[in-house]
Parts: sequence; C-alpha cells; structure tokens
Amino acid sequence: MRVEEFDGVIVGAGLSGLRTGLELSKEWNAAVISKVHPVRSHSGAAQGGINAALGNLPGSEDDTPRAHAFDTVKGSDYLADQNVVMFMTEEAPKIVLELESMGAPFSRLSSGLIAQRPFGGAGYPRTCFAGDRTGHALLHTLFEQCIRNGVKFYNEYFLVDLFKAEGRIGGLIALDMKSGELVSFRTPYVILATGGFGRVYKQSTNAVINTGDGNGAAFRLGVPMQDMEFVQIHPTTLYGTNILISEGARGEGGFLYNNKHERFMEKYAPNTMELAPRDIVSRSITTEILEGRGFENAYVHLDLTHLDDQKIKKKLPGIREICIYFAGIDPIEKPIPVHPGQHYSMGGIGTKFDSEYGETDLPGLYAIGECSCLSVHGANRLGGNSLLETSVFGRYVGRTLLMKEKSPVASLDSIEKAEKKTIEKIEELLKRWNSISGKNAVEIREKMGETMNKYLGVYRNEAGLKTALMVIQELQKEFARIELPTDDRKYNFGLIRGLELRNMLDIAEATATAALWRKESRGAHWRTDYPSRNDTDYLNHTMIYPGKDGMIIKTKPVKLGMFEIKERQY
Ligand SMILES: Cc1cc2nc3c(=O)[nH]c(=O)nc-3n(C[C@H](O)[C@H](O)[C@H](O)COP(=O)(O)OP(=O)(O)OC[C@H]3O[C@@H](n4cnc5c(N)ncnc54)[C@H](O)[C@@H]3O)c2cc1C
Repeated sequence: MRVEEFDGVIVGAGLSGLRTGLELSKEWNAAVISKVHPVRSHSGAAQGGINAALGNLPGSEDDTPRAHAFDTVKGSDYLADQNVVMFMTEEAPKIVLELESMGAPFSRLSSGLIAQRPFGGAGYPRTCFAGDRTGHALLHTLFEQCIRNGVKFYNEYFLVDLFKAEGRIGGLIALDMKSGELVSFRTPYVILATGGFGRVYKQSTNAVINTGDGNGAAFRLGVPMQDMEFVQIHPTTLYGTNILISEGARGEGGFLYNNKHERFMEKYAPNTMELAPRDIVSRSITTEILEGRGFENAYVHLDLTHLDDQKIKKKLPGIREICIYFAGIDPIEKPIPVHPGQHYSMGGIGTKFDSEYGETDLPGLYAIGECSCLSVHGANRLGGNSLLETSVFGRYVGRTLLMKEKSPVASLDSIEKAEKKTIEKIEELLKRWNSISGKNAVEIREKMGETMNKYLGVYRNEAGLKTALMVIQELQKEFARIELPTDDRKYNFGLIRGLELRNMLDIAEATATAALWRKESRGAHWRTDYPSRNDTDYLNHTMIYPGKDGMIIKTKPVKLGMFEIKERQY
C-alpha cells in the first residue's frame, strides 16, 4: 500500500477543515483530505449568516461577547459548556473581521460596516451575512486563501479507518476514489472535520455527503460520541423537498401562519414570536399540524408577502430562487409551505473535559466543526453559531498544534497491521457483489432514515425509542450481509455508500441509546413521557462508548459557573 507521511492530516475541507489546514500549513507539512472537492462541502450551503457581537446596527452598539454567550447558553437549555461558549463569543468579532480581511464579500450597511440581521434566540441583531449565501461566500474565500498559501489537498479521498499506534493516533487509511487504491497516511496528529450526519434521517436539509464518516471511524477506535440525543430539527424546510428556508427569512420579518390564518407563535413564545429558538418553533409548528391546524395536515405557511419586493430580491435571493424552482411559488406573491426537518447535530465526537478544545481521549486525535461536540450548542444550537464555531475552533486547533513538539510517527509495523485489517474488510465487501443472500444497502438506509424520522423527531417517548433501537440493531445485523452492485475498483459508489452506511448505523444507534436514557425534556430532546427539564438528574453530557455487548452510557459534567441556571422564557 502507498504510504504518505505528514506532521498532521485534516480530514474534511469544509470551513473547519480549511481553517485548520490554512493555519497548520504555515509551519507544518500538513494535508487536507476530502471526499468531495472542497467547495462542494456542506458549509457552502449555509444561508443565513455567522454571529458576532459587532454592534454595527444603530441601537445595538452595547452588544457584547458576554451577551452573545448568555443567549447561547440560554438557547442551549443550559447544557453548553460555559467556558467554551465564552471563548467562542470573544473570538467571534476577530474571526468575522479576519474573514472580511481575507476578502469575504459580506453584505453592508449604508455606513459601510458589515450588515447584521436578527436571528432566533438572540438579544441583538448580530448575524453577519452575505445575502442568503453566506456559507458559499466564506467557503470560497477560505479555499482561495488555502490555494494561495499552498495547502496540500487530497480531493476525492475517502477516510475509511483511523488507526492507533503506540497508544496514540497513528494515522488513517483512505480510499482514492478515482483509482480504488487504498492509501495510508502516517501522521501523529489527525484532525477530524468531517461535518454533520443529517443523512441518518430521511428528511434532512443536509447534503447527501453528510454521513458521519469521521464519527464512525473515531467510535470504532473507542472514542465516545457525546450528547447524540440532541438533534436539531429546523422549523422551516420547504414542504416536499426539505430544502432549508433560512431563519434569515423570519429574521427579515417573515410570519408563520396556520390554516386559520393565526400567527400561532403568539401562543408559544409571545415575546419573541417567530424568532424564538429553533427547538421551540419546531415544536410549535409540529403541535399546530398534529392538532389539525396545518395545511393538508402537513405544513404551515411562512409568509413574506408583506415585505418589500426589493428586500426579498436583495436579502433573500437564494430563498426566492429555491421557492420558484422547487415549489413553483414566488414568495413575493405567495406564502411558502414549510414544515420541520432534520438540520443539525448538536452532538458529535466527544472531547475531553478541562483540556485543549477539540482534543479527544485518544492522544493526537482532534475533532472540530459539526462532527465534534465541544459543547458550545448544548441541547439546542442558535442559528449563526455553527459557521462561527467552525472558523473559531479551526483556527484555535491549528494554532495550538503549532505550539507543540511534533511527535514521532508510528512504526511501520503498526501501520502494516492496520492496513491488513482494512484491506480484509474492503475485500470482503467487494467479494459480496451480486451475492444471492445479500441485503440491499439502499433498503437498509431507507429503513434507518424512516425510523429516525418517526421516533427521533420533535416528540419522543419510551415506547417509540425502544422500537427505534430494536429496528436499528436489526439493521446492524442485516448490514453484515450487504451486497454491492459491482466489484469495480474505480469510483465504486456502491462501496462508498456501503462504508457510509456502516458509520450511519452506529450514529443512529448511539442517538437512540442516548435518547432512551435521557428521561427529561431539554432543548431539542422532548420526551412526551417526561415533559420537563430535570437538572437534578440530567444536567450532564451523555458519552456513548462502543462495548462488546452493545453501547455503553457514561456521563460527563457540564461546565457551569458564568450564568445562573433558569427556566427558559421567550
Ligand atoms: C442547508 C444548511 C444551511 C445552513 N446555514 C447555516 C447558517 O446560515 N449559519 C450557521 O451558522 N450554520 C448553518 N448551517 C450549519 C453549518 O453550515 C455547518 O454546521 C458547518 O458549515 C459545518 O462545517 P464543517 O466544516 O464542520 O463540515 P462540512 O462543511 O460539512 O465539511 C465536511 C467535510 O468533510 C469531508 N468528509 C466527510 N466525510 C469524509 C470522508 N469519509 N473522507 C474524506 N472526507 C470526508 C467532506 O468532503 C467535507 O469536505 C447550515 C447547514 C445546512 C445544511
């Protein structure tokens, strides 16, 4: 097998991976590997914006990082680690100005300052944006900087397995998708930045590549998954396709109506209305639909028709296009049919307590961005805080590593052992093409997605969660017998989808396991059988470990101390 050697390897070329790559490549021999071309990463789909307490709008001059941290901690239903949140919100203005200085084309106020818009759960209008294509603008800006600074990319390389050597991370094995060749990356530091895993659900705003490959690989090495029960269901996805309709649409003044033409948010969040945090708006919409006040029992209206045409054309051009192309509706003239859909994963690869942000229990292995759980979002993320998290911690991890001594690389012996294991697994899968007793991977994936939607959506209960867990465990067994459509080596997407499914099933099982364990309602995790928050027993993070006889649940304390814990009112 071909062996490549680096001081550090970053897996993922979204905003978090690119930002780390840019930093590390200044002094180290580092590489970024990605299963798609970097600018096709899901970060490019982000619409609404990135938060920073700049106080640019008249009347918001007294906004501060502390106020931003308070909103984030309250939005998280007090499960976020307060020290990490404070670090992120203090870095936020610096990060946005850094992106601006790199050339990010932010929308402007007439004063020339970066424009900001109101977003859910925020006390001030602090979301900076580039129209409604913020992620696209930021991803291209960072990618250009990486090219300019000579970052080394391996595009269309698929992370298959990580491996340990001498008690720490030894490197990883990737599949060169074009040739079908397996390649070892021998390195003492691996930074996972593989993004979200929304595709575990059938209805999701996520790109099809968001399958949690970093999470699966880390978990197989014994690294825990943290807070997996907290899955963000976005309130407004386009009915029928689940394409995201950004919170920016409500931030710019959109209203939500039920079939009685009532602005129903009045009942659920009288002060903040449509701009309550996402968990609350999603529950409110779902309740309206379940109680018969939705249209066709399936959706509500997001109405922008009262807004100025020019405002929609200038500030929400992408949303308008999506509605015209995918629903045949021009939001200038007609309300948009929306319903909740999976959007974001608050949980992810578990990180260490009281340590460098992003460091996992396995020395040399780091996780950042949506695949990780540094716990800045707790039980519910505020819109605009995820783009922020990617760049803040991407830069932080890069800088932290550069201060370290470069560790020696793993011995060739241990690499060979790891290679042998992965080769055997891939060969075994390839052998199973067209086998008579084989299971169809697409069918397993569909069943998993439907199960997650049905039992791990906005409302959950014990019976449903037990059913979900049982179905997923059954699917795990079926996976052992999947068949591939071909044994061809080049661009074998059957093989890739199979490897992704292996990761997704572990994620689905960890999510159901954690949700069943947490007998309370907090943030996005709402149990109809335990409808209140229980700080006495559950104010802690869940850590799910792989075990011989099923998954093991442990807990980790939440970092408190800055903001008093209260009931959330909006
Ligand atoms: C439609 C949409 C709109 C959003 N809007 C906003 C918003 O307005 N504001 C906000 O703050 N957040 C928003 N979010 C969330 C935010 O965009 C993401 O959480 C964030 O961009 C994730 O960045 P990342 O760097 O962690 O991962 P990603 O950008 O998802 O990148 C993941 C990378 O990992 C690579 N990868 C994955 N698996 C493998 C593998 N096996 N081998 C090799 N490479 C691999 C991929 O190729 C990719 O390069 C939105 C999300 C969606 C889906």
